[in-house]
Amino acid sequence: MADPLVREIAMTDPAALNPASPAEHMFPVLTPVQQARIAAHGRVRQVQFGETLVEPNDHARSFFVVITGHLNIVRTSGTDEEVVAVSAPGTFTGELNMLSGRRALVRVRAGEPSEVIEVDREQLLSLVQTDSELSDILMRAFILRRLELIARGVGEVVLIGSTHSLGTLRIKEFLTRNGHPYSYIDLDRDASVQDLLDRFNVAVTDLPVLICRGQVVLRNPANHQIANCLGFNEGIDQTQPRDLVIVGAGPAGLAAAVYGASEGLSVLVLESSSPGGQAGSSSKIENYLGFPWGISGQDLAGRAYTQAQKFGAQVLIAKDAKRLACDRRPYAIEIDDGPRVSARTIVIATGAQYRKLPLENLSQFEGAGVYYGATHLESQSCGGEEVIVVGGGNSAGQAAVFLAETARHVYMLVRSNGLADSMSRYLIRRIEESPTIELRKHTELTALEGSDHLERVQWRDSQTGRVETRNIGHVFAMTGAVPNAHWLDGCVALDAKGFIKTGPDLSPDDLAAAHWPLARAPYLLETTLPGVFAVGDVRGGNIKRVASAVGEGSIAVAFVHQVLKE
Ligand SMILES: Cc1cc2nc3c(=O)[nH]c(=O)nc-3n(C[C@H](O)[C@H](O)[C@H](O)COP(=O)(O)OP(=O)(O)OC[C@H]3O[C@@H](n4cnc5c(N)ncnc54)[C@H](O)[C@@H]3O)c2cc1C
Repeated sequence: MADPLVREIAMTDPAALNPASPAEHMFPVLTPVQQARIAAHGRVRQVQFGETLVEPNDHARSFFVVITGHLNIVRTSGTDEEVVAVSAPGTFTGELNMLSGRRALVRVRAGEPSEVIEVDREQLLSLVQTDSELSDILMRAFILRRLELIARGVGEVVLIGSTHSLGTLRIKEFLTRNGHPYSYIDLDRDASVQDLLDRFNVAVTDLPVLICRGQVVLRNPANHQIANCLGFNEGIDQTQPRDLVIVGAGPAGLAAAVYGASEGLSVLVLESSSPGGQAGSSSKIENYLGFPWGISGQDLAGRAYTQAQKFGAQVLIAKDAKRLACDRRPYAIEIDDGPRVSARTIVIATGAQYRKLPLENLSQFEGAGVYYGATHLESQSCGGEEVIVVGGGNSAGQAAVFLAETARHVYMLVRSNGLADSMSRYLIRRIEESPTIELRKHTELTALEGSDHLERVQWRDSQTGRVETRNIGHVFAMTGAVPNAHWLDGCVALDAKGFIKTGPDLSPDDLAAAHWPLARAPYLLETTLPGVFAVGDVRGGNIKRVASAVGEGSIAVAFVHQVLKE
């Protein structure tokens, strides 16, 4: 099946329906007029045969258009080299790292004496914001090239792990959601892996292991260690005050970033894990406007992330906002490591995190049979087997329908009397019509059993009191979420359930208690701190949908402009 991104490009661009078009779009030939428009932002230079213009792991600094001669795009692995593409006259170098400023994954070297136009990355960023024709051509090529690099596992990142390990799943998810290519070696299936482990002096107890850039060996690394090793955040100045700092890169935060950056604000986004938030853990979102065939949460997040970067928003990955220093302005946000981030205004878009099942030994099986998302990453480990989905909301319904495509049988456990109150009608119908899905009402999981991964569960029917034991090793917990507002530590008013109160929901008592200092009332979406807004799932009264998160993120930016003028 075609990649969804390619499919979407084809649907939005009739020219792409030509079967020969993927290569054409990946390596388009610019017309002399288009080349002249690019040349106005750079300089023409001569390149010697064999001269290297970009080294793997170099930061993206320059972009090249070939006028005469050709450039080889070379994949490296230790001392081995392989030419994976050739940039001929009229074509150009670069892929998504030109937008993010991250390190290059390939070498670019002249295959003969050549003449090129060299453009600085900063100039390229301003070009894609102002020249829509070139922006379309470059963005499409950059995205398609990154997909190609992912498909080929280019980038010298190797993950060695086990399907039954939480660490392995986490690292796979982190790399995938950040669009970083990697190769995976499954310890349980590949006997030859021992040689590789010996070569890097790795004991089995160190797993999962990530070999980063072909050199550095990270033993069960935290996400921030991976981000540091791959240079995800290099080149982003954390000391410079920003007009707008957005905390959280789910749909709400990314929408605020796209609108803020495209309207000329200096925007920094802090994300504790990877872009996409909860939506990123959805296999298929079918009710978001404009995607009649549905879109996976990861694809939606990937596009939004690229769009935000195109307009110049900077996104710090694997950086947790730990505390808000709210006693003076500009506000300051303390992050994991590194300097405090200074902000004239803030949009809090930290969303919510999955509610955990109230079972004593739960942590033993998280990632080893208990999952909080149902994407193709998780489904790979349970194809052809029986699985359980716990929960009766839309996320549980989506998971059940998605897993029914590959699982032998899907049990849906709900505590209530049915799904009608909590789930969209289209999902209920699919569940009812699926021969693979069995709804168990009034049923709760009561025990998890197994050794290094989940092997058995017990559930109880609350009406009859009957307890059943089943040999099932895969449980998908989709039981709602709690707000990520603990880090605000008294800076803003929260409602009884811990969600952030904003705008008209703030009572005179809330404002008095917070010493609201202004003559005006808080704007829509503004918290009890002037210039600090809350949007999306973390906000009290929010409708828990991608569309409302995106809507609120974009609305908040209009008020950010008002505050910056005050
Ligand atoms: C499995 C699943 C399926 C779903 N399907 C649909 C659907 O089909 N249609 C639909 O409309 N909605 C769906 N939803 C709901 C939708 O995904 C959410 O309403 C939406 O993602 C909320 O967006 P958000 O940006 O407010 O928060 P989130 O998506 O929760 O994003 C918050 C982000 O903030 C980050 N963060 C948290 N704390 C910090 C911190 N201290 N510092 C830095 N970063 C932080 C998190 O890592 C996260 O990336 C689904 C949800 C789930 C879980």
